[in-house]
Amino acid sequence: MSVGGKVLVVGAGGLGCPASLALAHLGAAHIELADSDVVEASNLPRQLWYGPSDIGRHKAEVCAERLRAIFPEVFTSSFVGRVDESNADQLLRECDIAIDATDGAEAKFLMSDASVRTGVPLVHGGALGFVGQAWLVRPGGPCVRCLFESPQEGGLSCGQSGILGSVVGSVGIQQALLAVGHLAGERREGPSELLWQLDGRNLTARQVEIHRRADCSSCGASRERARCVQ
Ligand SMILES: [Zn+2]
Repeated sequence: MSVGGKVLVVGAGGLGCPASLALAHLGAAHIELADSDVVEASNLPRQLWYGPSDIGRHKAEVCAERLRAIFPEVFTSSFVGRVDESNADQLLRECDIAIDATDGAEAKFLMSDASVRTGVPLVHGGALGFVGQAWLVRPGGPCVRCLFESPQEGGLSCGQSGILGSVVGSVGIQQALLAVGHLAGERREGPSELLWQLDGRNLTARQVEIHRRADCSSCGASRERARCVQ
């Protein structure tokens, strides 16, 4: 089965590796990997696409190469570069849905803000310690700033604190499921969304209903009114 549309995976590390593998298994038609980093020895234990001979090579290119070899029916492409304020909107507009597989809180806010600006849905994901979470940021639903006002509030970073590899792997797979589900037409309407949360200590997952905040500085109603006036 193939699911039409292009999925942009921003980050080809701990989240992006399992997410891209699951996307290919689930029948995504086009997967693009975006990352500026090169493979380092410390990545090898939990970033499944890379081996010792890949050290020093760009992750986005190696990841796309491995996907192409195993899933020739999937169209794969790579963007070697940093996704930042200057290019995030354009990269999102060129895809049907994006997966935030970055590992820093700042990057996660940047991706969420770009999704709100462009209206292109984004699957947010993050892990901290034993806990991982993912949800779909889409027009009309809650964005990352509805839950966390700024990167300083923390709780979103994968790379800046200790994490459990299996939790990150599970979050990446869940992100792929949410992206493919959205492309296949599964979606909620209205101002609430289901946040999927995994507790790696006892391997239990639960869904929590989260709501859009009217006073959100990114997607809130007051911000929308300001945009209409401009
Ligand atoms: Zn918001």
